[in-house]
Amino acid sequence: MKDLFLDCARNAALESEEKLVEVLDQSVFQQRSLVDDVLDTQLVDEERFLENLSKKLSIGWKEELERDDVKPRQLRELCSAQVALRHRLLPVYFDDPDASEDDEFAGEGGEERAANGEGTGRLEIATYDPFNLTARQAASQHIKVPIQWRMASRTRIVEGLQSLYGVGADTFEQLLAGRDLNEDLLDMREDVNVIDDDDEEASVVKFVNQILREALDQRATDIHVEPQKNQLRIRYRVDGKLVEVPVPENIKALQSMVVARLKIMSNLDIAERRLPQDGRINLQIEGKSIDVRVATIPTVEGEQVSLRLLGQEQFNLKKLNLGTGINEQFRNLLELSNGIILLTGPTGCGKSTTLYTFLTELNKSETRIVTVEDPVENKLEGILQVAVKPEINLTFANGLRSFLRADPDIIMVGEIRDLETAEIAIRAALTGHLVFSTLHTNDAIGGISRLVDMGLEPFLVSASVRAFIAQRLVRKLCPTCRVETSYKPEYLRSVDFPADYTGPFYEKGGCQACRNSGYRGRLAIYEVCMLTAGLQEMVTAGRPYSALKEQAIKDGFLPMRGYGYAKVMEGQTTLEEVVSVTTTEMEGT
Ligand SMILES: [Zn+2]
Repeated sequence: MKDLFLDCARNAALESEEKLVEVLDQSVFQQRSLVDDVLDTQLVDEERFLENLSKKLSIGWKEELERDDVKPRQLRELCSAQVALRHRLLPVYFDDPDASEDDEFAGEGGEERAANGEGTGRLEIATYDPFNLTARQAASQHIKVPIQWRMASRTRIVEGLQSLYGVGADTFEQLLAGRDLNEDLLDMREDVNVIDDDDEEASVVKFVNQILREALDQRATDIHVEPQKNQLRIRYRVDGKLVEVPVPENIKALQSMVVARLKIMSNLDIAERRLPQDGRINLQIEGKSIDVRVATIPTVEGEQVSLRLLGQEQFNLKKLNLGTGINEQFRNLLELSNGIILLTGPTGCGKSTTLYTFLTELNKSETRIVTVEDPVENKLEGILQVAVKPEINLTFANGLRSFLRADPDIIMVGEIRDLETAEIAIRAALTGHLVFSTLHTNDAIGGISRLVDMGLEPFLVSASVRAFIAQRLVRKLCPTCRVETSYKPEYLRSVDFPADYTGPFYEKGGCQACRNSGYRGRLAIYEVCMLTAGLQEMVTAGRPYSALKEQAIKDGFLPMRGYGYAKVMEGQTTLEEVVSVTTTEMEGT
């Protein structure tokens, strides 16, 4: 067995044979799945390793798990969610012997199928671990038709299971299979908010936990549970876009239980169904604590529940995927000991991610960092964070004022909206603090006039602000399925795309990895306006926007569109994405 695995691994980008032997020995000793252990350690290329294994074992390899031409319901009926999800067996194809009778197109290719010996009534099931005997036994016990075993990659099987059965379908099936559903059961556990996979028993609690866990796995920022007339729709917001989650077919039957469970978790009044309510959950998952803000809205179809998952993100400069020039500029800015660094852009342009990244980079034991935010979106270990509370007069300005007496090195103020806050921020900067904040303007240079319009003296702006950074988010092309494309020269000229570029352009494709959207994740594009000596002089002199911009460009300022075009040339996003987010400029605001 060990030799077989080593053999298959050698042709699959094996990193270290020694390590693999170690993993295999451990796995055998602990009687665990060798396949899972090998894949978990990421020592080999999953796809190639499993394909090699399938060849050695003479089990048919499934490259694509497209189910365009099959009936998902039939597959679900033949192989129940419990068997499929518990053992990770994916039914991929049923060679229905009766199909030709009611098949409209039976005439075409019907003979061909017969000649190929098709229509045999076998169910093709894909596994990634052919040595899992428990799974095989369960399959042969529960599935009433002959089985044709196939192999496919673990990733594709897991994805396939989810789209075929829906999140939490195994639990759901057991639930419908006739347990007493009673709302009292929802509250029986002591730690209502600890999500624990080991809970074997099927329950609404487990089902809701599966929905939450899946959302976390997908890096969702929001979950919406939306009752509709004939269905309970569940949607996640991933990378800023709403994605409908495949759910078990009859989930509507459990709607009130699911909603009640969520309300219990967030300490809401479950008897109150006619008024909107707000609450919070502190989820414990794998030792990590996640804050969830919960809001219920009564609709005509029932109560809708929205959950916002806070603190889901990890921050580091590398993740911002910066172009080299900007990377260096950011690093230089972070080495400053005083001054103001302002981020600009509309709501939802990713300013807070950049701010949190800066703070995370600066978060060391010898620096004291304090923030005033509205609200605190992510909790950062070791940083003192305060949320504004206007009702008790804890505003940005007041928070900032008291912080200055608390000996900080670095201060972050969620937003500068008024003269009072702006003045305190400047005082902080001039007395040796590094201050980060945001401004509601479209472009970097526009930040200058915004501060002046608030009533600040131009010389104070040029003396304290070190840089204005503007940003927008563009969708990132899915690297697996992006396709090459081209543009007419006239179009490229009209959007000022560099004429000397001869490399390829890409547009979106669609594949399983990106749920056919063609995009995966988002990417921030930036422009950084450093307050150079030349620019400082012009700001103090009160020169207009156009003159400031001209000077900035002379001093090396690259407008955002140029930065975005570099990302287009790298094939990370499309030309349209960059053009559309950089066109809605209200220059000089
Ligand atoms: Zn794709």
